[in-house]
Amino acid sequence: MSESASSSPTLSLPVLIGGLLTTALALAGVWWLAHNADDFNVMNWYAWFILPIGPLLVGLVAGSGYGLASWFTSFRVGKATLAVVVVLQLGAYVLAQYIDYLEIVQTYSAFPPSFVQFFDEVTRSISFESDDFDSTGPLGAWGYGIRLLEALGFIGGALMILSGLRGQEYCEACGQYMKSNAIVSIPASAPGKAGVFAGKAKKAAHAEASETAFQSAATIHDALFAHVEQGNARGFSDTVQRIVASGELAKGKPLKGVPRFFAVTLTSCPNCRQGTVFSLLRTINGRDVHDEPVSSLPVSPEFVQAAQL
Ligand SMILES: [Zn+2]
Repeated sequence: MSESASSSPTLSLPVLIGGLLTTALALAGVWWLAHNADDFNVMNWYAWFILPIGPLLVGLVAGSGYGLASWFTSFRVGKATLAVVVVLQLGAYVLAQYIDYLEIVQTYSAFPPSFVQFFDEVTRSISFESDDFDSTGPLGAWGYGIRLLEALGFIGGALMILSGLRGQEYCEACGQYMKSNAIVSIPASAPGKAGVFAGKAKKAAHAEASETAFQSAATIHDALFAHVEQGNARGFSDTVQRIVASGELAKGKPLKGVPRFFAVTLTSCPNCRQGTVFSLLRTINGRDVHDEPVSSLPVSPEFVQAAQL
C-alpha cells in the first residue's frame, strides 16, 4: 500500500472489470432463466405496478462486482466511479435489449425491423396482468414509463451496493477501509418492560431499576473512556474483561431483552492500525432503534494492538 491519498486515482480498473463481470453474469442469468424456465423473466417483476423489484434485484447482482472489488482492493468509491457505473449500467441495459432484438429478428424471414423500430413496438405493447385481474392491454406510450422504471431499478441496484461502501470509514493515509470491532455492550436499563397492564408500583420499581442501571452503566462507560483518553490499553481491556465477566454481557453481541445500552466499538486501519474508539447509546422501542453518539476518541496503533480483545 504505497500509494498515498493525495495521488489516489479517481477510477480503478479492477473495480470496473469486477463490476462488468458480475453485470455480464447477472444478465446471462436473466437470459438463461427466461429461456429455460416457463414465463420467468426476472426483469418483469413489479410490486404494485410501479416498483421494479426484478430490475432492482438484477441491478444488485450486477453491481456486486463493483462493491466486492472495491472492498478487496480497498479502492474507495468516489463520485467519478458512481458516474461511470451509471453509464455502464445503462449501456448494459441497452445491450441486453439489443441481444433480445438480435435473437428475435432471426425469426423474421424478410423485412426485419430496425432495433429502434423493434424496441418501440415492444415497449408500446407492454401490458400488465396478474391473477387478480385481466390484462391491462398494451400500454402504448406509457410503456416508456415502464422502461424508465426498469432502467432506473437496474441502475439503482448497482448504486445501492456502492452507496453502502461509501459510508464505510476509511483510512486516508493508507487507502484502506477501516475494520470495525464491537468491543462491549453495557446495559443501561432494567431488562424488558414494566408492561402496559403493570400496576403503578411495578412500573415505578421498573423505572427506578432502569435509572440505577443507567447510572452504573454511565460510570462504567466513563471509566472505559478515561482509559482510552490516557492511552491505557491495559486498563481498557481489563475493564472490558470485567464487564464481560460480570455475566449478562456478551462480548460485542447485542443485548437481548435490554432496551437501552451503550455499545462500544473500535475501528482501526488494517494497515497502519490507527484507530478510533467510539460509543453510542442505543435505545430500542419496539421496532424503533435510536442511536445517540456518546464519545469518540482517536487511539494509537499500540493501543489498537493491545486492545484487540
Ligand atoms: Zn492506515
